[in-house]
Amino acid sequence: MNKFEQLGLNESLLLAIKDLGFENPSEVQEKAIPLLLEKDTDIVALAQTGTGKTAAFGFPVIQKIDAENRDTQALILSPTRELCLQITNEIKLYSKYVKGLNTVAVYGGASITEQAKDIRRGAQIIVATPGRMQDMINRGMVNIKNIDYCILDEADEMLNMGFYEDITAILSDTPKEKSTWLFSATMPQEVARIAKEFMNSPQEITVGHKNSGNENVSHEFYLVSARDRYPALKRLADANPDIFSVIFCRTKRDTQAVAEKLIEDGYNAAALHGDLSQAQRDGVMKSFRGRQIQMLVATDVAARGIDVDDITHVINYQLPDEIETYTHRSGRTGRAGKSGTSLVIITKSELRKISQIERIIKMKFEEKPIPSGEEICQIQLFHLANRIKDVEIDHEIDKYLPAIEEVLQDLPKDELIKRMVSVEFNRFIAYYKKSRDISQGTNERREPGVIPSNGAVRFFINIGSRDNFDWMTLKDYLRDTLELGQDDLFKVDVKEGFSFFNTDAEHATKVMETLNAVNIDGRKINVEISNNDGGGNSRRRDHGGRNSGGRSGGRSSGRNSGGFRERNSSPRGERSSNSRSGSDRNFAPRERSSNKDDRGFSSRSERPRRESSSNSERPSRRSSSNDSNGGFFDKAKRSRRD
Ligand code: ADP
Ligand code: MG
Repeated sequence: MNKFEQLGLNESLLLAIKDLGFENPSEVQEKAIPLLLEKDTDIVALAQTGTGKTAAFGFPVIQKIDAENRDTQALILSPTRELCLQITNEIKLYSKYVKGLNTVAVYGGASITEQAKDIRRGAQIIVATPGRMQDMINRGMVNIKNIDYCILDEADEMLNMGFYEDITAILSDTPKEKSTWLFSATMPQEVARIAKEFMNSPQEITVGHKNSGNENVSHEFYLVSARDRYPALKRLADANPDIFSVIFCRTKRDTQAVAEKLIEDGYNAAALHGDLSQAQRDGVMKSFRGRQIQMLVATDVAARGIDVDDITHVINYQLPDEIETYTHRSGRTGRAGKSGTSLVIITKSELRKISQIERIIKMKFEEKPIPSGEEICQIQLFHLANRIKDVEIDHEIDKYLPAIEEVLQDLPKDELIKRMVSVEFNRFIAYYKKSRDISQGTNERREPGVIPSNGAVRFFINIGSRDNFDWMTLKDYLRDTLELGQDDLFKVDVKEGFSFFNTDAEHATKVMETLNAVNIDGRKINVEISNNDGGGNSRRRDHGGRNSGGRSGGRSSGRNSGGFRERNSSPRGERSSNSRSGSDRNFAPRERSSNKDDRGFSSRSERPRRESSSNSERPSRRSSSNDSNGGFFDKAKRSRRD
């Protein structure tokens, strides 16, 4: 018997669940579903975003209503139009094998008479935003006097948005005997008040810690001077070539300005704020979901409805006025058991807010330096090299090959590689050659290649996440190989094709000598001293989790509270995982968990590459391919050679 069957769900739901590819219930589902199926009770369920709350109330409500009776039996209230549509969609998917069941979405900004018509045709379930619902009640377009179930989804958000009056008015229009199910990520006073006034000794389900942050999200801050906010953002984006992110600004104007600058600079970006028309907003969200937009710049209000999986980074371009809002922002990433990062670009004067937020989310921030130009060039270069290596060839191009070969025939392979890389890469070099490094941290510059005699030394190593490492497994691996103690390695930063780490200077010679002699499955490890010290000598904030007691499980998702325990492990064709040929990577000490825990059922198109829209920035192909191209080219050549 599968786990969902054990919860008491019936055949038609089990079939739909199978279609969805859900393998195991999430924690909130495991706790809520049997309880709700078994008896008619009020509940308050608290769980972080992305933990599967929709199904936690959706499955039971579908099973409990009578699809043969066309009266409205359940009302689901949700804060925004986006969410309302999303929930409606999900409910329709869950109930696709239940004959006669109709779910209608009711929200502002669309024709109210059309919605009323849909309801008149018979809607057992109505999913509504509070404002529009109240409107329809006032106009006598809907009858909720006999409903059996009222569900308040994202109750904290609804109350945050000032829907208290609408909600209480709507609730008083429903019968006393119904069951009320309240779902929320946090439990502020207003939510407790609703529970107290409108619910009947509700059972409480809590997943994870009340009001605390999501354990799958790690938090980092970057100290810059105010005028460097934008260049810092650009660097963070460039240092994460596969970034898929929401960037939060405080005002509509900043949101628009930052988005425009990003677009000008060749990124796939767009703005989302209240001055856009509904159609414009829909268009932006559609492109974002479809990954045509890689960086969505948004205000807090506009971003409320964003429930997009797989967001890799939330970037706080500015911190919110209300620090509580930070939880909502960072909750946009780390959904469905995946790991995510919430970055804060901050100036000295705002620094105290970090500890205030730490108290609220009960997690520690890690202070990081803005990546240096050289670091970014390394990252981009490896990313590009790996893309060339992994790209799937479309044989449509075969017919053009003779002509192409003719053009390129005189170029030896070495030269060809240099030129190919330069086509994509020169703009990074050009930009970072002229831009000064901007971190306000304690970055010390050193002569490249010289082993320092004191302080912390930062190393570059040519293995990374595509070799199945995350920061924890790499740290363990290096410590074992180097026979170093628990605290001798720090600031381990794993990128796709390579990583950085620090040791004290006393270990530097050992690191260089030992690791450069290591061969893993025929591949030579290459270690070099990096110019960037990784944010000063302090180890205080080294990945919060392990030493400082902030997070307990680091980034690996296995131990998260409330996520999905076991997922279908087939990778979604994330480039970093499907490009592996399997056996040749089996040297990794442990399976990396954070990027592999995909649910496997939502096949998605590859993320777009921002290079595609940046033609204007590219230098012509003739330029500079023979120039002295700096340390990173040499490095790349060396480490790719074998
Ligand atoms: P929440 O409402 O708690 O923020 P959602 O209900 O929106 O979370 O679910 C987040 C994502 O997880 C959705 O894409 C949903 O389809 C998916 N999901 C829900 N339940 C499961 C499950 N049991 N197994 C795998 N994925 C699930
Ligand atoms: Mg939800």
